[in-house]
Amino acid sequence: MGDFTLELNDEQQSVREWIHGFAADVMRPAAAEWDEREETPWPIIQEAAKIGLYSLDFYAQQFFDPTGLGIPMTMEELFWGDAGIALSIVGTGLAAVGVLANGTEEQIGTWVPQMYGDADDVKVAAFCSSEPDAGSDVGSMRTRAVYDQAKDEWVLNGTKTWATNGGIANVHVVVAVVDPDLGTRGHASFIVPPGTAGLSQGQKFKKHGIRASHTAEVVLEDVRVPGHCLLGGKEKLDERLARARERAKSAEGGERVKNAAMATFEASRPAVGAMAVGTARAAYEYALEYAKGREQFGRPIIDNQGVAFQLADMRTQIDAARLLVWRASWMATAGRPFTSAEGSMSKLFASETAKKVTAQAIQILGGNGYTREYPVERMHRDSAIYTIFEGTSEIQRLVIARTLSGLPIR
Ligand SMILES: Cc1cc2nc3c(=O)[nH]c(=O)nc-3n(C[C@H](O)[C@H](O)[C@H](O)COP(=O)(O)OP(=O)(O)OC[C@H]3O[C@@H](n4cnc5c(N)ncnc54)[C@H](O)[C@@H]3O)c2cc1C
Repeated sequence: MGDFTLELNDEQQSVREWIHGFAADVMRPAAAEWDEREETPWPIIQEAAKIGLYSLDFYAQQFFDPTGLGIPMTMEELFWGDAGIALSIVGTGLAAVGVLANGTEEQIGTWVPQMYGDADDVKVAAFCSSEPDAGSDVGSMRTRAVYDQAKDEWVLNGTKTWATNGGIANVHVVVAVVDPDLGTRGHASFIVPPGTAGLSQGQKFKKHGIRASHTAEVVLEDVRVPGHCLLGGKEKLDERLARARERAKSAEGGERVKNAAMATFEASRPAVGAMAVGTARAAYEYALEYAKGREQFGRPIIDNQGVAFQLADMRTQIDAARLLVWRASWMATAGRPFTSAEGSMSKLFASETAKKVTAQAIQILGGNGYTREYPVERMHRDSAIYTIFEGTSEIQRLVIARTLSGLPIR
């Protein structure tokens, strides 16, 4: 027998039970209220902070879990509790990862703790990349960052949209164009510190689902940030731009840079897949119990193959989705190359599964499933986000098809 196992180790199991307890006892009972209020659930974030579930330490620990399963396990349990509240809790992590991936040690030490605040004064952070004309097509980004050498400051101008925690964040991480001739290779990320003049919240969106999570436009008007707010530093940026200019001249080199960027996405996409697995599992579990308890024609509705087979399919697809997510998460941690876009595969399958499974759950609950008295209606609305953010399903298919074929399929 080799070492291969799909079982969580003792420590992972106890962490999972701990998160599950918070999800079941604190998040689930509050879910309907915050969905209706469409507001950031600050008291719940604060409760999470008090027990250490909303902290840099906790997420760093899960991120560096040597099996790769720490993050997917955490995401699945939190999103099992409630997707909107969970996104309010993990949204800060998106911005933190932006700093961890590109920042210097000093930048990480300075800014990431300010993203979380502390249990008595919790804060959130936002990662701002998408723009009104640059969603799937990141290369169309227009927000400009121009260096003012005399003052050693960067000046940011543009409009970001769809930013989770945008405008209410303590720290914003903003992606901007520093060299328009280099496409996505001419982008750089900046910290906008708390209270910086010129950054304001634009429209706050009223959404179909994950309504407890704040999503808004972020407007940048002559936002001046000190030189040290460029993630990675000026020297590294200048080197990177010089390399990109050289490589842009050779098709092979350009391809290498593109592959590096793609590897980052492949590594982060399974986390979104795990969120989808959490929502799908929540709806499936609810539907299973309902089908065992609800009687029609003198017997529980699950006695009908038409209902039981739906539940069998739901569970099969959820388990398959989780296995794809775990495989891709393990590959990312083990440094395996994503030769078949396995990260995109996991996000595509899990997000489509969540949409399907939550719709089936509504059907199994009948009229009750269609009302806000029961949670599956909310879970169905919530699940629609997974096929949209962090790359739509169409973009995942494009990435998978290009990776498999080696062709620039459009
Ligand atoms: C609730 C929410 C939270 C978000 N949070 C953040 C955040 O924190 N930070 C951030 O930067 N962004 C965030 N986003 C933005 C999100 O990543 C984008 O919405 C997403 O990338 C899609 O971009 P778009 O909305 O502009 O759609 P578009 O790119 O306009 O796509 C519209 C449709 O066209 C399809 N399409 C586009 N191009 C192709 C193609 N080449 N082939 C086939 N089909 C194509 C798409 O699949 C989609 O179905 C968030 C979005 C939402 C809704």
